[in-house]
Amino acid sequence: MYIGCHLSSADGFRGLARDAVAVGANVFQFFTRNPRGGAAKPIDPADVADFLATARERAFGPILAHAPYTLNPCSDKADTRRFAREVFADDLARMEHVPGNLYNFHPGSHVGQGVGAGVALIVETLDAVLRPEQTTTVLLETMSGKGSEVGGRFEELREILDRAALGARMGVCLDTCHVWDAGYDVAGDLDGVLREFDRAVGLDRLRAIHLNDSKNPLGSRKDRHARIGEGCIGLEALVRVVNHPLLRDLPFYLETPQDDLSGWAAEIALLKSRRTGG
Ligand code: FE
Ligand code: FE
Ligand code: ZN
Repeated sequence: MYIGCHLSSADGFRGLARDAVAVGANVFQFFTRNPRGGAAKPIDPADVADFLATARERAFGPILAHAPYTLNPCSDKADTRRFAREVFADDLARMEHVPGNLYNFHPGSHVGQGVGAGVALIVETLDAVLRPEQTTTVLLETMSGKGSEVGGRFEELREILDRAALGARMGVCLDTCHVWDAGYDVAGDLDGVLREFDRAVGLDRLRAIHLNDSKNPLGSRKDRHARIGEGCIGLEALVRVVNHPLLRDLPFYLETPQDDLSGWAAEIALLKSRRTGG
């Protein structure tokens, strides 16, 4: 089972790998830079080599880089879209130092321009930054649909994947809190939600799961993560997610609010203990 959490470290990739091992994880998510944007630290080849050694030794699954939250490829402001392109392209270049992993981004908020205009701007951004030689798989994240977010409906993700020139090489990261908040009942009808995802997007495009509980009820469009078992989705439903035959081989990344590493260590241990059949 591939399970881990979102980590941050002042000590580069080797620090992330060390923290992952400390919490009992064999995958992790991290921000490529300050989550509010800003410059990324230069890549240190010795740091990458240390990380790769740990990853091999511990049989890590795919690591997932998360784009900054401020990245909005479908903003109505040209300079915000330019910033999104620059950060996106720079992040993808950096990810090639750890080839063959995943890069997740929020499709963005159309800020009143409408979903159609938003999708067109997202596709323009992707066409500007994706390269056929990249080994990183770029993932669209399912969103809660709060405000003017694009990606709260599976069909919106499908449209982006269909229209981007290299969309066939992209995938989707499903966030359990976000889809629940968007109105997909992963607690009461997981099979139905997966059927819907398969119909709209295709389960073969699903590459990662953000495993979170939600502070709010189904369809609330809030996007407030809760600790596993402390929210409206509940422990039993999240246990069904990690054991579902269509999901169980995907990497799971916790983005739960914790005060320190011990919180994620406890959640990872709990979910491993509830895993059926290894
Ligand atoms: Fe996210
Ligand atoms: Fe997420
Ligand atoms: Zn979220």
